[in-house]
Amino acid sequence: MVSAGAYSGTPKRPGASVSGTRRLFERLGLRTAADFVVHLPLRYEDETRITPIAQARPGGHALFEGDIVDSEMRLRPRRELQATLSDGTGRLHLRWLHLYPGQQARLSAGRRVRIRGEVRAGFHGLELVHPLVTEPGTRLPETLTPVYPTTQGLSQASLRKAIARALDEADLRDTLPEPVREAYDLADFATSLRLLHHPGPDISLDLLAGHDHPAWRRIKFDELLAQQLALADARAARQAQRAIALQGCGDLPERLLAGLPFQPTGAQARAIAEIRRDLTLSHPMHRLLQGDVGSGKTLVAAVAAAQAIDAGSQVAVMAPTEILAEQLWRKLSEWLVPLGVQVAWLTGALPASTRRQALAAIASGQARLAVGTQALIQDKVQFQSLGLVISDEQHRFGVGQRLALSRKGDQATRHPHQLSMSATPIPRTLAMAFFADMDVSVLDELPPGRTPVRTRLFADQRRDEVLSRVAGAVREGQQAYWVCPLVEESEALQLQTAVDTWQHLRTELPDLRIGLMHGRLSAQEKTDTMTAFRGGAIDLLVSTTVIEVGVDVPNASLMVIEHAERFGLAQLHQLRGRVGRGQRESTCVLLYQPPLSAVARERLRALYETTDGFEIARRDLDQRGPGELLGLRQSGQALLRFADLNADEGLLDLARTAAAWLAKDFPEHARAHQQRWMSGAVQYLRS
Ligand code: ADP
Ligand code: MG
Repeated sequence: MVSAGAYSGTPKRPGASVSGTRRLFERLGLRTAADFVVHLPLRYEDETRITPIAQARPGGHALFEGDIVDSEMRLRPRRELQATLSDGTGRLHLRWLHLYPGQQARLSAGRRVRIRGEVRAGFHGLELVHPLVTEPGTRLPETLTPVYPTTQGLSQASLRKAIARALDEADLRDTLPEPVREAYDLADFATSLRLLHHPGPDISLDLLAGHDHPAWRRIKFDELLAQQLALADARAARQAQRAIALQGCGDLPERLLAGLPFQPTGAQARAIAEIRRDLTLSHPMHRLLQGDVGSGKTLVAAVAAAQAIDAGSQVAVMAPTEILAEQLWRKLSEWLVPLGVQVAWLTGALPASTRRQALAAIASGQARLAVGTQALIQDKVQFQSLGLVISDEQHRFGVGQRLALSRKGDQATRHPHQLSMSATPIPRTLAMAFFADMDVSVLDELPPGRTPVRTRLFADQRRDEVLSRVAGAVREGQQAYWVCPLVEESEALQLQTAVDTWQHLRTELPDLRIGLMHGRLSAQEKTDTMTAFRGGAIDLLVSTTVIEVGVDVPNASLMVIEHAERFGLAQLHQLRGRVGRGQRESTCVLLYQPPLSAVARERLRALYETTDGFEIARRDLDQRGPGELLGLRQSGQALLRFADLNADEGLLDLARTAAAWLAKDFPEHARAHQQRWMSGAVQYLRS
């Protein structure tokens, strides 16, 4: 492998140092020759032939050659050089607003020039504004000219040069053996790369642009294959780790189930069976429990915890927010404390002495179950013997981190089993592409007796009407959420909006008990507010999106979401999932500010049309792509550079079977393939 320095290229402008160029390359994730060769063009320019002026069409980029027949520097209405180019087939009007010294002479009447630029329909017929001027008679390139993704300050010329050199120097040997290439009808790697960087003029630009050309297919396949191999590796590494087999000798899970006022759904029973079996194995479980809002994931977690406790282990349960953690604590305590399980509760709001006691109970093993936010559980808590970690709604974090961690594989210590729970349904392709190292249980059934939430759309002008209807319903004993608009740019502004809305509603509806919930409240204030709402002491809860996931108040049957057009689809679905949890028919009112953008209209339509979380997730993936769906947008992680999970579902299936074949029959090839692709991808994940 060649050092990165060799690819710094020659600085074009004075002042741009070699190390400066290298930094720019690094900003694009380009360090080694292997990185450069898979930095693929966004599009191409055709400089391979000269177009006769008679064939020029507005909108197209083209190269012309001819004589300047007249040329004049105009000063009014502004300084501008105007010229006319003729090649015997027609004439083109040319205009330049800024000129380098000496350029005017090059463009004087009688000079022969070559001109490249975009043709426009102008006042004087077809014209080119600021076309590039080159010498006539030089040899034309034989291939299309690549235009690469770049970063500010880095010229196409530097990139082209560095990439062309990398193509000569990098090891482009095919990592796929002949039989695999044949079976999946794959083009050769080196040929595909060369073609994509420098396609001949006869190749369809449409095929290239749509990533449909066989060369693109090969590159996308390689990328997906590398990811599948990494996931398979992660899974194998986990299976080589050791865990405590949690085979209980008592009947705690059975007693828990027997004491419930309801029967588990069929889906819950299936998930419980899958998890209970995993827990008895001596390698760590990594299971994702996926179920739409309200599908009853907490019960499944409780039974898993009961089995671990029965087998003599401790269990940690964590959630991303205080509100969620507290709900889990409440529910799990309600089920497990009567069975003699001591539960520790860890929150930021605890007085120091109470907190010390909780920590001591966990360290001594007296407390069998610890519930808290993720930070509280992770950082300082010492367990006597931790056998199972359950996390709620945390799948959004760390796809790359998970792969990196599971590669470490510590043979000596015993790892806890892990159960993750998520209400964001993950479409099949996404699950295959990013969660193939985990096992998945799905709750695809809601507990009986739920009536689907009715969704209503109202333009913001009808806010008063909505307000009086909400007031009416609340006076009849319903409870309601009033969700304040998302203000993405500023948390302070969002908070202000919530406070304003709260004050406004209190003035408008003085007879109602109106609460306020937002992220800046202290943990104690949040707890008090939720307790009051749950207990019926608050009729209407004005809130920011802190109530987005997991909040479970069955008597709340009405929700108003202001400026619904600002929210994402998954987020609206989550919010709406806060109602429809009890017996009463629930309603979700989406207030929007017209006019709606096309995307916002689609989003609200989707929400109106379906309450099925999987269908919503599928539409969300269509609209936003996987990065956002996985919550990776802010972290800027690029997940797949070339393949597109919607368009390339078939290819993903092939890559998955190929990964298994390679791992079994061609392990050397598999290793080489991963090396080529993963170095770049991991850097991508980190950047
Ligand atoms: P989620 O999957 O959204 O976390 P929860 O675990 O909070 O759902 O369950 C939602 C509500 O349904 C809770 O009040 C819970 O007690 C109740 N529940 C769970 N399972 C059943 C069941 N099989 N039958 C009836 N109610 C159930
Ligand atoms: Mg939940």
